[in-house]
Amino acid sequence: MGHRRQGNPPPVALIRCRQGIPIPTVPTSLKQGLLLFWVKEWGLIQGFEEKRLLGWVCSYTPEEIILTLGLTPCRLSGTDENQAADDYLPANFCPFARACLNEVLGMSGISLAGVVLTTSCQGLLHLYNALGYFSRKREERFFVYLLDLPRWGSVKRAAALQEFASSLRLFTEELRRYFGTEWSNALYLENLARLRQVRFLLRELYRFLREHPGRVRAAGVLELVRAAGRLPKEELIPLLLSAVRCLEGEIPVPSGSRAAGLLEKLRPRKPCAGPRLLLVGSPPPLSYVDLLEELGGAVVGDDFCQGYRYCLPEIEEGPDAFLSLARGYLERVPCPRMLAGQERFVYLSRLVKEWQVQGIIYHALKFCDSSLYEYTLLRDFFSREGIPVLYLETDYRSGGLEQARTRLQAFLEVTG
Ligand code: SF4
Repeated sequence: MGHRRQGNPPPVALIRCRQGIPIPTVPTSLKQGLLLFWVKEWGLIQGFEEKRLLGWVCSYTPEEIILTLGLTPCRLSGTDENQAADDYLPANFCPFARACLNEVLGMSGISLAGVVLTTSCQGLLHLYNALGYFSRKREERFFVYLLDLPRWGSVKRAAALQEFASSLRLFTEELRRYFGTEWSNALYLENLARLRQVRFLLRELYRFLREHPGRVRAAGVLELVRAAGRLPKEELIPLLLSAVRCLEGEIPVPSGSRAAGLLEKLRPRKPCAGPRLLLVGSPPPLSYVDLLEELGGAVVGDDFCQGYRYCLPEIEEGPDAFLSLARGYLERVPCPRMLAGQERFVYLSRLVKEWQVQGIIYHALKFCDSSLYEYTLLRDFFSREGIPVLYLETDYRSGGLEQARTRLQAFLEVTG
């Protein structure tokens, strides 16, 4: 398999000494007035620099680069709290792209300095076009960038690697020119170490989820991963570390602390002792994940780009930062868009065995070609392995929850 396996992670208590970077203290001067509801909701500090937030979407976007150039990565996960995208994209279009556009348009004038997208699918290409149009209409400068992402199929891997490394170099150069910032190797290595820690701690949470299903809310873990792509890493690391250590029973929950707030979000709403489930496909509305657990399903993991796959890139310190980044991101298990079917299925099959999965829920977003192509192949693959797969389609919103309830209930009965 092309992606590298995750090595055995060190015990949580050793993180600080093994990973070798000091955990910075929390800054005391907090910037207020930034309307990032996720940040507020998670009770974290809004220490962002005005006009320095850079939106990003695809998990092939290296946050390492954005951070090294002094910008704050702000992962978009979409919202339906406004329908501003209606003016730019048709209704029968990728609901995720539409939700991201709603989010950007809702944040404009706050501090989003731009958005970087990848050439991953039609949905994101049109989102790029819509954002370009939006930025031309705006009076203020707004950076919109399309990062070339090559296919990572079974052939021409060396060429794809070089191509992606060049794309990343170009992206860095554009950011540097546009924002007038400089690349610093020392800062790059610091950010590399920070992101490594964030990913490791998130994987620890996932490990806890599959070892103790029902003791952590799976939708809470997904929500946290989404938030991790937009929160200042130096604040996130100690918070995650405390949360993991509390869950492991190594330290008591410090009352009134941020960690306590986070653990509250991760607290399951109901014990779930039903079949062990793996979630695959496109990022789902979190209310569906809560519903699964409410019905007794034990979600033990996922394969979402806004979920477990975010935690997988392993970037080595090499002489060429861009080549190392390209390798780390491309060699992670490929996403459905890479059309590397067999490799993905072998990887998923390994997860199914190691995590003792009894059923797969495949979530597809309406109008998502990549998911539709992959689903039938995946269903056939796992039917040969005797693992039931349920297809669930949504428009990335919570509507249709009640109709889904009956299907999910029936699936859990068959699977359990
Ligand atoms: S599904 Fe794949 S290509 Fe699409 S946003 Fe996620 S990681 Fe990127």
